[in-house]
Amino acid sequence: MKPLLIGGEWVDTPQAVSNINPSDVSDIVDRYAQAGISETQSAVDAAAHAFPQWSRTTPQARHDILKATGDEILARKEEIGTLLSREEGKILREGIAETARAAHIFLFFAGEALRVTGDSLASVRPGIGVEVTREPVGVVSIITPWNFPIAIPAWKIAPALCFGNTVVFKPAELVPGCSWIIADILKRNGLPAGVLNLVMGRGSVVGQAMLDDERVDAVTFTGSIETGNRVAEACVRHMRKVQLEMGGKNPLVVLDDADLDVAVECAVDGSFYSTGQRCTASSRLIVTEGIHNRFIEALAERMRGLVVDHALKTETEIGPVVDAAQLEQDRNYIDGARNDGGNIRCGGGVLTRQTDGFFLEPTLITETHPHMRINREEVFGPVASVIRVRGYDEALAVANDTPFGLSAGICTTSLKHASHFKQNAEAGLVMVNLPTAGVDYHVPMGGRKRSSFGPREQGSYAREFFTEVKTAYTRP
Ligand code: ADP
Repeated sequence: MKPLLIGGEWVDTPQAVSNINPSDVSDIVDRYAQAGISETQSAVDAAAHAFPQWSRTTPQARHDILKATGDEILARKEEIGTLLSREEGKILREGIAETARAAHIFLFFAGEALRVTGDSLASVRPGIGVEVTREPVGVVSIITPWNFPIAIPAWKIAPALCFGNTVVFKPAELVPGCSWIIADILKRNGLPAGVLNLVMGRGSVVGQAMLDDERVDAVTFTGSIETGNRVAEACVRHMRKVQLEMGGKNPLVVLDDADLDVAVECAVDGSFYSTGQRCTASSRLIVTEGIHNRFIEALAERMRGLVVDHALKTETEIGPVVDAAQLEQDRNYIDGARNDGGNIRCGGGVLTRQTDGFFLEPTLITETHPHMRINREEVFGPVASVIRVRGYDEALAVANDTPFGLSAGICTTSLKHASHFKQNAEAGLVMVNLPTAGVDYHVPMGGRKRSSFGPREQGSYAREFFTEVKTAYTRP
């Protein structure tokens, strides 16, 4: 059993949960301890006790631990990437790439620890100086989802520690493996006791206990809208900082003047890679009528060649859906779209493979309308719908006609339309001739409207959430 980490000690629990490989349900990755309310409270306690000392460590000390952690993750990227693919189901190439990305995030924030700056200004009153400085927030609760088992924990944990906060971390139930490895690496690389506490367990128990605890100063969450709303309400009740990353219904606009090959590649990657289980996935393909039929034809052709199978097989391009419940949800959305008048142009079926996993054909639904349920709600699977539009103006209006605003893409060779779209897409991320998914680790990531709440994550913008600003006036 892989234990919890509380106050620098590994802690076993009476109950453990199996981590099951979605490519092959007979493959048990490992068993993981399950925290309850009292373990969660002990973890918050440990983080609160560790805070005064950790918040005063030198930038060099924080740099060294984050750097050693990034180096070790990078050196072990094949091994950890394989574990990631086993527990989550994304293909090995993607699992290794995500692990390398997590390593680079730690290395980036190792450097950021040495670059915490402030401002020094003259007061508007004579003889007085003003300093604006950054301080750590305190105890940060981190709650993560299953779709990026190492990158999302990394992009929350690394900045939290970089800026001198202590952490209580709850990974998603389905993917505790990579999170356990991060905790183990940090501990072995010298992170003092209590600075990061790992409490695996159920959201409704462990997550809720974190939200209910007065001693938590900030919560950073990535997951569903429903849970995000719950987290936001609890944080406002306690007047604590909150940062939420939630769903998307990301549009990819394809204009008549697009390069067809580029557009097809953007759609295949954005809609179906990582089994479509990315909050930045392209789920609405908004296509102008001059290219519509050619685009659908070429995309369907490309989709028919996609290899869906066990995530660890070298030829696999698309792995399984994460679990039975998600597969059921995907199928319900496909059936719903068909009942609403959509045409299942490609895929739609559950696949049988050598191993017993949750394999779903990449699915393309054409002849859909913006108001259909398939175009309003996030599916979170390898499913994309096509909306035919007359021209650019209608494409932009449809792209923005959604409560979400995470990522928006356009495929065009027109500078005029690309520039206009960049300025007018109601999204936190805009992609021109690129898939809506796939972002760099050193620049901000986040959305608008119902997709996100609070300051941006990643890059130097991460400091907005993980620090408090202090303005100090001095009369010498
Ligand atoms: P997903 O559909 O991605 O699993 P969830 O919002 O259900 O989205 O889960 C995201 C994270 O939120 C997971 O770590 C989950 O355990 C946690 N979570 C679920 N319910 C709660 C809750 N009531 N309070 C706090 N965290 C929760």
